[in-house]
Amino acid sequence: MPIDATQPYDDDNVFARILRGELPSRKVYEDEWALAFHDINPQAPIHLLVIPKGRYVSWDDFAAKASDAEIAGFVRAVGHVAREAGLPAPGYRLLANVGGHGHQEVPHLHVHVFGGRQFHAMLV
Ligand code: C5P
Repeated sequence: MPIDATQPYDDDNVFARILRGELPSRKVYEDEWALAFHDINPQAPIHLLVIPKGRYVSWDDFAAKASDAEIAGFVRAVGHVAREAGLPAPGYRLLANVGGHGHQEVPHLHVHVFGGRQFHAMLV
């Protein structure tokens, strides 16, 4: 079920539990600002998720409340993850679903990194 992106942060959401090490993930990268791991239900040959370490429900929440250092750290982490996966030359797709109409299901901001195949016109 899609979430309401304006809801308060839920500390028991699945990505909060992954961040705390209470649930496993196939981690590919971690730094002060972000954690990246393989999506459990990949929609492309490469499908990674990058999440901030801070408690942000959605992109909207993050853009409104995160510090400049958190935003810079997170954006650089997304770029690093894509580069480490070898994606910049062939190209790749980033996606952040937000709230109900965006069909966001997990209430902790995550950026999807899709690669390894040709993508076409915008997802619907
Ligand atoms: O953007 P949205 O919230 O719809 O995507 C959530 C993503 O989180 C899905 O692609 C789902 O497969 C992934 N997921 C995951 N590990 C979990 C729960 C969800 O990789 N434990």
